[in-house]
Amino acid sequence: MQVAEQNTFSIQNIDPVELLNTYGSPLYLYDGGTIRRKTGELQEAFAGINMKIKYACKANTNLAILRLMRSIGVELDVVSPGELEMGMIAGYTASQITFTPSGVPFEEVKAAVDAGAIVNVDSIPLLEWFGQTYGNTKPCLIRIKPNVAAGGNAKIMTAHADSKFGISVLLLDQILEVVKRYDIKIIGLHQHTGSDIKDAEPFLKVADILFETAKHFPDLEVIDLGGGFKVSYLPGDAVTDMALLGKNISERFEKFCKEYGRELQLWFEPGKFLVSEAGYLLVKTTVVKEDPARNFVHVDSGLNHLIRPMMYGSYHHILNLSNPNGEPKKYNVVGYICETDTFATDRELPEVRTGDVLAFLNAGAYGMTMSSNYNARIRPAEVLIDNGEAKLVRRRETLEDLLKTQTDL
Ligand code: PLP
Repeated sequence: MQVAEQNTFSIQNIDPVELLNTYGSPLYLYDGGTIRRKTGELQEAFAGINMKIKYACKANTNLAILRLMRSIGVELDVVSPGELEMGMIAGYTASQITFTPSGVPFEEVKAAVDAGAIVNVDSIPLLEWFGQTYGNTKPCLIRIKPNVAAGGNAKIMTAHADSKFGISVLLLDQILEVVKRYDIKIIGLHQHTGSDIKDAEPFLKVADILFETAKHFPDLEVIDLGGGFKVSYLPGDAVTDMALLGKNISERFEKFCKEYGRELQLWFEPGKFLVSEAGYLLVKTTVVKEDPARNFVHVDSGLNHLIRPMMYGSYHHILNLSNPNGEPKKYNVVGYICETDTFATDRELPEVRTGDVLAFLNAGAYGMTMSSNYNARIRPAEVLIDNGEAKLVRRRETLEDLLKTQTDL
């Protein structure tokens, strides 16, 4: 088992408090160096085989991050026309983009296919429509639901029998019948098990199911095992041992290719693994309240900016950047949204004072992309540090941004 090191603020030669004062609080801060390092780790782990990374950009669609990904040879996985458009604006060609929809209107699929993206077909009705619309003129992949339960918690498991995602492997006969009827060109099988998977075992299990299923499709070029690699959340946390996972999966994949009689490409669609650790949400404390039951630290942000703790109980390590050597005390760290809005419960932090700057770690994935304007709050700015330079890559919203779609001003 690989264990994470102590979680700290790790962007060299950068003063986060100064950045916060320049760009306003709260602020999303990303480290390009971490994205490069994580990408390199994955590339290295699969260096012996024909592997492609398709970044699941739902994790973070900032155009500067998409451009960085493109510059280091990472392709894209998108789930909506908006993400597809952002990928193209960032310089990707549609052929480098995979569209992995979840029960979307078929016009969205048509727009993606007509633009030149490849689609992961996720239902029998969509497969029927694909066959009727394109016959064998356009290739596609099929998203298989392997009926395997794995992932950090029930809300982020996507391949178990009750999951809405993909076409159950138990419907293989029906899939084959539709494919044959329209002569659909199936060039790949896809699955995504879920998020926060630390061991190779679930990947191997679903890989075996796809390899078995692959025998029924003679023209495959790709096996896509989705994303879901676990990252470290708290000091001492178990994380995916990428080198070991790479070795195990590569061996199994090579064996499969030999049996299949052709060298296929293996695709992964990591989101979190590439960008989670690269991101920090910096906030300022507004009120420190010593309540008889708890000490509360209120901050100038909330679930509108980082919903993960409230949505699926995720842990974000917190640093007190203003008082790192303060005496340890326990706090509930809470947001300003008028709902239960708790970032951390009973968390030991160096003494927190009003106005201190806190950093939430692991905020690079599913932070800004899941943010909202709830309570008519504006979203923060985003800054990317790359090659030693801090660059504003999204300005802070304004009240005008909030009002501009209202028609009854
Ligand atoms: N691929 C698909 C189809 C997904 O739905 C997701 C996440 O929801 C991912 C990849 C990325 O998952 P992760 O960020 O855990 O790597």
